[in-house]
Amino acid sequence: MTMEAHHKVVIVGGGTAGVSVAARLQRLGIRDIGLIEPSTTHYYQPLWTLVGGGRAKATESVRSQQSVVPRSVAWIRSRVESVNPEERTVGTADGRNIGYDKLVVCPGIQLDWDTVPGMAQAVAAPQTSSNYSYELAPKTWDLIRSMRSGTAVFTMPSGPIKCGGAPQKIAYLAADHWREQGVLKDIRVVLVLPTPSMFGVPVFAAELERVAAGYGIEVRRNSELVEVDPDGRDAVVVDHESKTKDRIRFDMMHVVPPQSAPDWLKATSLADPADPAGYVEVDKHTLRHVRHPDIFALGDAGSSPNSKTGAAVRKQAPVVARNVAAALAQSDALPASYDGYSSCPITTSRHRMLLAEFDYTLQPRPSFPLIDATRERRDMWYLKRYGLPFLYWNLMLRARA
Ligand code: FAD
Repeated sequence: MTMEAHHKVVIVGGGTAGVSVAARLQRLGIRDIGLIEPSTTHYYQPLWTLVGGGRAKATESVRSQQSVVPRSVAWIRSRVESVNPEERTVGTADGRNIGYDKLVVCPGIQLDWDTVPGMAQAVAAPQTSSNYSYELAPKTWDLIRSMRSGTAVFTMPSGPIKCGGAPQKIAYLAADHWREQGVLKDIRVVLVLPTPSMFGVPVFAAELERVAAGYGIEVRRNSELVEVDPDGRDAVVVDHESKTKDRIRFDMMHVVPPQSAPDWLKATSLADPADPAGYVEVDKHTLRHVRHPDIFALGDAGSSPNSKTGAAVRKQAPVVARNVAAALAQSDALPASYDGYSSCPITTSRHRMLLAEFDYTLQPRPSFPLIDATRERRDMWYLKRYGLPFLYWNLMLRARA
């Protein structure tokens, strides 16, 4: 294969991380950046929770890719299929071979619908939906608003997923709507969580226990959806502690698929050989690859053990940009370090939100220290609904926040 193009920095993926890093690199004066992204649309995925909860329109979450790629960055409309760290090239699905001095890998995470038997068929059938897809999120709201009685099941898979709070958020939005409609008493709401507690940070877990109990939600801890019978409308849930299986007949279900690195990435030498999920093996502070010093990774495809969110990307992107710039200048030391910051704005009702912010230490890291951020709050709802989308499109993607 001949090399058909070369850029000083090549970025794989033009989602939240790719566009943020491109803008940051440009701001640091780096020219000659190539961004490889196959899609002509760019999504603000955090809004999909509100779409599923009937609080936003799906179209508000989309803009053209053209409008978010920084002007002087070369957008290569293609899909990467291989990386050759020795030759310093990436190969694309349309047969191109693109060279780099430094490579930034951020193609996001893969939704493994087929890992749970029946899940893919279930979301194509009338009673099941998932906010993890732009196309399906409006269906979630259709199911919620047409439900008056019966059993509603909300599930979360084990292993890292993007936005670990999203499987719970939609349960609370639904329960609050049903309470407003006066039908919550006629609906059994079951929340299936793989973890022993409701959140990794104890103070937020305690608040979520209170919220779930307030709605009368039946929380199944240490449990997981292992099979769906789409015709019979049965969810098979295993309890990993008691080692028992339960069949729950549902009238509506919201599922979240298991997730892992994209298959093509798992097959490269960038993946951590010890991790079957196949994320790019980076140092958790510098975000540089542990074996290939010309390669960096961030966002959902990176192995750093933070919670996978756009909020984490907002803190990772400046670190990667500064470290790539230093590496280009042949500096021995990398100047910037990521501390694991992530945040999860958990919608606890149709008007309230709990802003869970934390870092690698799993201690709360509030951005607004003067208010009590350990409780659900009405003012935080406005941050989620209006503040964060504004921050995303106007500041984060333009290297201003
Ligand atoms: P993405 O933004 O997914 O971008 C990956 C990009 O790579 C895509 O544009 C894709 O087309 C491209 N790509 C894929 N394969 C290839 C390839 N082979 N070659 C080239 N390009 C490729 N985060 C929050 O901070 N707060 C929230 O409240 C929140 N809620 C969420 C709710 C839901 C329902 C979902 C689904 C996500 C939520 N997130 C939230 C998570 C957030 O959206 C992601 O963590 C973030 O988008 C990760 O950025 P990324 O660039 O790594 O991946």
